[in-house]
Amino acid sequence: MLVQAFDKQLLFITYLPWQKAVKAIFLKRALPIHESGAWVSLDEWLSTIHDNTRYVNSVNFQFPMPQKIVFHKVSIPVNFKVRLSRWNLYVRDMGRCQYCGKHLSRREATRDHVIPVSHGGKSTWKNLVICCRPCNEKKGSSVWVPVKTPTVPSVREIMVKMSAMTVENRQTTKAFQADFNHQV
Ligand SMILES: [Zn+2]
Repeated sequence: MLVQAFDKQLLFITYLPWQKAVKAIFLKRALPIHESGAWVSLDEWLSTIHDNTRYVNSVNFQFPMPQKIVFHKVSIPVNFKVRLSRWNLYVRDMGRCQYCGKHLSRREATRDHVIPVSHGGKSTWKNLVICCRPCNEKKGSSVWVPVKTPTVPSVREIMVKMSAMTVENRQTTKAFQADFNHQV
């Protein structure tokens, strides 16, 4: 069972296993978000009657599991740098080949230097895109113009794009989180 976690500006952070969500709530790091959208304290949450709520059981009690929680003290810093990795490139480019526009699975996506290394192109956010294997092979060492000019993404951009991606990409979320944690 996964719970959606948000920062205090209600920006989606990640999917958390329910055990971690419960821990965060009991440690008062996070608040449950009520079905109405209200943020409630643990006491309020436990004294409210919940319809359609899933319960988790421990030895001594049953806990109504919120679908969403908010880390009410946390705001994702705007100027936090996103690590340049293939998965983060995949998220920035929304999983689309930047030459033909085809939607790619994470496995199909390859990394491409817009200006090839042989022409002095660097491995930077502004010179890397993801593309499909056929485009990558056809392009070779020539210079193609990507669908979207590649930019350096902010953490917010990556977070927002990730939350827009479907369950199919949850692994990407994990990969990004690993990168994110790596930098903290
Ligand atoms: Zn392509």
